[in-house]
Amino acid sequence: MKAHNKPNEKSDAKQEGIQHTMARLGEVLKNKWKNELMHGEYIRNIDRQLISEENTFFWLSKGDLKAETETEIVVAQDQAIQTKYYATKILNTETDSKCRLCQQFDETKDHIISACLILAKEQYIKRHDKVCAQLHFNICKETGVQLDKKHWYEHVPKSVETSQGGNVTVLWNQEV
Ligand SMILES: [Zn+2]
Repeated sequence: MKAHNKPNEKSDAKQEGIQHTMARLGEVLKNKWKNELMHGEYIRNIDRQLISEENTFFWLSKGDLKAETETEIVVAQDQAIQTKYYATKILNTETDSKCRLCQQFDETKDHIISACLILAKEQYIKRHDKVCAQLHFNICKETGVQLDKKHWYEHVPKSVETSQGGNVTVLWNQEV
């Protein structure tokens, strides 16, 4: 029995050593990332619990996006996109960091995504409705509603949808 245990113990110890090294390397890389002036903002916000660490990386674990799309999202998360704030603070190619739409706040990635008063009037509503359209599409599929389109992104919800059997009614944008 002892002879069988020894190789396993060695292999367990080796495995632990590898995991320890990987964790230490991960910590070093995380600190390097965190200390970057702009790229680090994202990881600092995770540490401040302004962003959920679990949810924000969840999409990466699925691996169902094209490499180019994945790259663009990561670049945007790291603020390495051509915002005026980036051009002012990092590239030094601009002197005014204010948003080119509202001209009130710094044009950062966060501002563009969720805080611009001009984009809020139409673009944020469109984005919200597109997310809801996917939910509506899935609910219709689950409940047996006949759909015109094959893909959720082509789906335009109707105010009232009824399942084929007639026992489920799905409402869109209506008071209940
Ligand atoms: Zn703005």
